[in-house]
Amino acid sequence: MSVTVVGSIAFDAVQTPAGSRERMLGGAATHFALAASFFDRVHVVGPVGDDFGDAEMDVLRIRGTNVDDVERVAGGSTFFWSGRYHEDLNTRDTLDTQLNVFESFEPKLSTASLASEVLFLANIQPGLQLKVREQCEAARFVALDSMNLWIDIARAELDEVIARVDCLVLNDEELRQLTGKPNLFSAAHAVLEAGPSIVVAKQGGYGSAMVTRDDFFALPAYPLHEVVDPTGAGDTFAGGFVGFLASRPPSERLSAPVLRNAMAYGTALASFNVEQFGTEGVASVTGEQVRERVRDLDRFARFDPIDAPLAG
Ligand code: AMP
Repeated sequence: MSVTVVGSIAFDAVQTPAGSRERMLGGAATHFALAASFFDRVHVVGPVGDDFGDAEMDVLRIRGTNVDDVERVAGGSTFFWSGRYHEDLNTRDTLDTQLNVFESFEPKLSTASLASEVLFLANIQPGLQLKVREQCEAARFVALDSMNLWIDIARAELDEVIARVDCLVLNDEELRQLTGKPNLFSAAHAVLEAGPSIVVAKQGGYGSAMVTRDDFFALPAYPLHEVVDPTGAGDTFAGGFVGFLASRPPSERLSAPVLRNAMAYGTALASFNVEQFGTEGVASVTGEQVRERVRDLDRFARFDPIDAPLAG
């Protein structure tokens, strides 16, 4: 079995309270693939320019990821994003977005990418996500991420693609923007009415919450003394979440215990992402280190209810 991801493969420039990088490997599909590759074979689909070197391609290939559908566009430049984080790290300003090779990208997936049973439509123009969704007829579980930019400028296409996925992963603020509902729980239920059966709201340093038609589950972010660079944390979370689900039999994927574990693997992997700049953390971590943090999360979030002798 395998997972196909389409989305940005990028060079990022970031400034965080811990330091800065002028040009590092990034992109939503990159961060997703690095995390999901712990669980299954990943096929990455997306264009890069001739500024994308062999060293970057080797990082994408980590843990057996297939890069045959990473298209090198002669004369083009790789997608570029630049951002600056505020002191609290939960807010950031986008300083620059250059779509570059994505402007004329027409996704054409190889037979191997088309055969994946699990598909992740990482954050990119909803029109492109839709084209990929249409091509991937074999996909039985499809998850999607998006962002405020596309809610603002490509709403109709975004609604169309959301109606055709099983799982929506979005920042909580964007979830509220998408639905016009001020509260996370009612916003998630509005999305469930539109088609998906799982909604995951990412809450930055506060963790994440998951809503299905009959369950709710929330986990804090893994507690860390220092966060160096949150860039890609959401995509890394999605890679852990979707990757874990991909590794389970299809009949189990909507069961609460499996979905809760997917949340834990996403959370654990995201914590390694934010400890270092760019892809450095998730590229170097071992499977056992990930499992250890999942076990820690179980300790941190579990409690046994005590019936207090309450008045009244
Ligand atoms: P996250 O921190 O999880 O929101 O993901 C940040 C990653 O998304 C960075 O590595 C960027 O290269 C990429 N990114 C930022 N803006 C966009 C955009 N408009 N479209 C696609 N990818 C983006």
